[in-house]
Amino acid sequence: MEKLNTEKSKALFEETKKYLVDGVGSSFHKAADEEYPICLESGKGSKVYDVDGNEYIDYIGAFGPMLLGFCPEAVNQAVIKQLALGSHLSATTTDLCKLSKKLTEIIPCAEKVSYQNSGTEANMHAFRLARAYTGKKKIIKFEGQYHGWSDEEKVSIDANFVSELGIREEPNKLFHSKGQRHEAADDIMILPWNDLKLLEHVMQKYSSEIAAVITEPIMCDSGPILPKPGYLAGMRELSLRYHIVLIFDEVITGFRTALGGAQQYYNVVPDLAVFAKAIAAGYPFAAIVGKKEIMESGVQASGTFNANPIAVAASLATIETLEKGEIYERFESLGEMLTKGIMELGQMYNITLFCHSVSSIGIIVFGMSRPAEDFRDYIEKADVKTYQLFVKKAREYGIRFTSRRGRIYLSSQHTEEDIIQTLQVIKQIFSEIGGDR
Ligand code: PMP
Repeated sequence: MEKLNTEKSKALFEETKKYLVDGVGSSFHKAADEEYPICLESGKGSKVYDVDGNEYIDYIGAFGPMLLGFCPEAVNQAVIKQLALGSHLSATTTDLCKLSKKLTEIIPCAEKVSYQNSGTEANMHAFRLARAYTGKKKIIKFEGQYHGWSDEEKVSIDANFVSELGIREEPNKLFHSKGQRHEAADDIMILPWNDLKLLEHVMQKYSSEIAAVITEPIMCDSGPILPKPGYLAGMRELSLRYHIVLIFDEVITGFRTALGGAQQYYNVVPDLAVFAKAIAAGYPFAAIVGKKEIMESGVQASGTFNANPIAVAASLATIETLEKGEIYERFESLGEMLTKGIMELGQMYNITLFCHSVSSIGIIVFGMSRPAEDFRDYIEKADVKTYQLFVKKAREYGIRFTSRRGRIYLSSQHTEEDIIQTLQVIKQIFSEIGGDR
């Protein structure tokens, strides 16, 4: 198997770095251990093409949005049509009405909707809604879960060692950026995920102060880590009991697990939910949806680019495409083919790993032979070094995996042929990196 030549990527990155801070548009675009990232020219279907002319089977999906693959025809057509009508109008349009109605029909908790341009902003808006509605201030957030990069959100999203996280019952607040105002997170309470007893204890004790609990319904940032049976329903029951707003961050799970998100998949309906990434197939767009009385608690959704008509057109076309096909059944079978294949190769080469998927979201973890239960479990047991080596080698052989903790994103354009080719490459990699890991 031949390794790809990526000299032009390297040169372009070096040149860009002279002008653009760190040479990338978002910190996620370059892994910390990468000498240089692959610079891309285009994408089509399940593949992307770099500036050296190499083709890659892509499992990064632009970090989530490309649920329909690159350049999906229906979305392209809708966008081209809207371009002729104006790229931005800052006004209510017929399509905006149509999309808003549609979201209330497909998302279980959505009685009313409002919009932002990113998951970060949408979660900030959800926090504000919860505070306005309850008159309380504190927000429970779970360690290892990412909700955005603002001062208040970017807390305890990552750790190198479990010891950094502090005691389970009262975890440390970890901050991750220079310039971050720590006081901004004074009202954020950190807890470990998947522990209903501890959540009940904290909710009961501080019920007069807690406005909301925000959770990914499936923990995606080091997963998918699945909720324990009864965990989401228990959270629902507790939040109702203590008059605490339950927010599902469906920025990743939204449209990826089901059209109605993980709330539909698990049949647990939160008070508010945030959808972003995949809902407009690659256009910057986010929706905050939820119970009418909370959504109407007097919080303005401001923003010059809110409800941009290109993104609205893209989102409508995305929904129409997802409603038509048997895409979700396909994700199950493709996911199983890929993850089972990787597990078998692990056994063949005596490499300890665990790989599984939920719909279009998968994970490969080295050093563990079972799914992680929560973030601490993952941080303690996962062999990150082997994963980094695996990603580096996969890239050299034309397969792109995210550097972000083994997450795999499938698109509706991935084929059985892609999976077979991917498994052939992984076989080659495992034969190179050797067993007893
Ligand atoms: N919530 C979750 C679960 C996410 O994964 C992300 C992005 N990785 C965000 C929120 C923030 O979204 P955005 O990057 O669009 O601001």
